[in-house]
Amino acid sequence: MKALRLTAWQSDPEMQEIPVPEPGPGEVLIRIGGAGACHSDLHLLHEWTPEIMPPLASWKLPMTLGHENAGWIEAGDLDGYPYLEQGAPVVVSLTWNCGVCASCRVGATNYCEVTQEAGGLGFDGGMAEFMVAPIESLVPLKDLEPWMAAPLTDAALTPYHAVKRSIPRLTPDATVVVIGVGGLGHMAVQLLREMCASRIIALDIDEDALALASEVGADICLPSDEAAAEEIRKATGGLGAMVVLDFVGINPTLETARQAARQRGEIVIVGIGGGALPVQFGALPYACSVVTTYGGSTGELAEVVAMAEAGRISPHIETFGLDEAADVYERLHRNEITGRAVIRP
Ligand code: NAD
Ligand code: ZN
Repeated sequence: MKALRLTAWQSDPEMQEIPVPEPGPGEVLIRIGGAGACHSDLHLLHEWTPEIMPPLASWKLPMTLGHENAGWIEAGDLDGYPYLEQGAPVVVSLTWNCGVCASCRVGATNYCEVTQEAGGLGFDGGMAEFMVAPIESLVPLKDLEPWMAAPLTDAALTPYHAVKRSIPRLTPDATVVVIGVGGLGHMAVQLLREMCASRIIALDIDEDALALASEVGADICLPSDEAAAEEIRKATGGLGAMVVLDFVGINPTLETARQAARQRGEIVIVGIGGGALPVQFGALPYACSVVTTYGGSTGELAEVVAMAEAGRISPHIETFGLDEAADVYERLHRNEITGRAVIRP
């Protein structure tokens, strides 16, 4: 089968011909119906090495890319899993986990103490015709086609997890800022619409992204520049935003977050842009928390799937063939994708 693979650190991906993998005990073979192209893959392809990112030390290359995966169960022993059957459409969780550590025991499987590796992130992923995944990582689909559901596994799950943990601060009188309205950010706006009654301000450098933000429910859309924080302060009577979700994470966006955040507020850093935020007395509004989040749990993925099946959230998708996958990453790099690009092998 064809698979788009990372063959060496800091290199472009290569399309290779590899054997169809065989599922082991507790695993299934998935026929891929959709694989989303996430910006994290650009960091993975061009920036990271095991020295910069120590968890990568245990990853074996070559590795098939793609960690936003959905498809149909093709093979595997499903004895004892009455909710799954051969041919059933499923999404694959963003993080795989041990199931028994303290985090897994409370359902925080994305913070498993043993492993955070998964398909496309340490194991072979879904930019291929088939992939192997643990049965526990699957969430069944009802009406959604796999290609429509693929972005739910990260582009929706990751902001869902971030928003859910900030819900106590997201009161109806509060303002929340979304910085970066790409794959994750455009889902964040929709999720905020569904999950709270706070006013939503969206920031981006791209006009199409801001138009999409407005279309999916942002109340105010602003260019992401040096004036943005001042605009947010003006719009909040000088108080600032109770929650700032940064889906870019570079120095200028973190600085906007710092200047726009409100006392008792929260800055949530989801973007992996490599920027830094000074945490120091006086540098941040009083009692303002700063937190980074990673993905979401498999339980949260089931919640996200349920919302999407009910038509309450809907990824804005551009589809491409597997042969176009390398080109899709180029486009993503040039910021030419609006919403999420999904590969349909
Ligand atoms: P994307 O490329 O789809 O979207 C990025 C958006 O940010 C684009 O709309 C772009 O115009 C905008 N942008 C770029 N520079 C900006 C700036 N200075 N101010 C405001 N907007 C700006 O990316 P994505 O797939 O949504 O991923 C976003 C980030 O989240 C990436 O860094 C990715 O690696 C990271 N990520 C983190 C997790 C996690 O678990 N923490 C999971 C998935 C992705
Ligand atoms: Zn991702």
